[in-house]
Amino acid sequence: MTTFNLRTLKLRSGEQFADVLDVQLEPLELGGQRYLPVPETVPAELSITRASTGTVFELGFDTRLHGPCYRCLADAVLDVPIAAREYQATNPDSEELRTPYLDDDRLDLSAWARDAVVLALPEQILCRADCAGLCPVCGKDLNAEPHTHAEERTDSRWAALAELRDQL
Ligand SMILES: [Zn+2]
Ligand SMILES: [Zn+2]
Repeated sequence: MTTFNLRTLKLRSGEQFADVLDVQLEPLELGGQRYLPVPETVPAELSITRASTGTVFELGFDTRLHGPCYRCLADAVLDVPIAAREYQATNPDSEELRTPYLDDDRLDLSAWARDAVVLALPEQILCRADCAGLCPVCGKDLNAEPHTHAEERTDSRWAALAELRDQL
């Protein structure tokens, strides 16, 4: 877990701190599947800007996730560019003016990075955009073995019958 200590940082209003830090990324659990960031540690640009009413935190890095394809379970690789922003008011009255990653002058960069990656992900992680997935009948990989089953033809006959019945 990577944290950044703000205690030694004495920024006055209008001042900015910017640096590149190594941030450790955590594996993600999504829909019961595990996705691994490769490499585990990435160089991230952290900038902290002090304004009169609060502090703006910005974090930028690129990561690559490895894990199973949502449709066929084969290995999928996804590049995820991250540009995240958090704000902490000097006198926070409401939760909205407070970043959840700041605790007692320590900024939890690993937790922030993990949440930022989750927010940046597409709805489905796929091995390729047109992945055909697994056959719902026999479970075979439809990318490797495109096929249909006799049951599907029966289904369409039933559909035709149902259509006929609706017309009567
Ligand atoms: Zn796939
Ligand atoms: Zn099948």
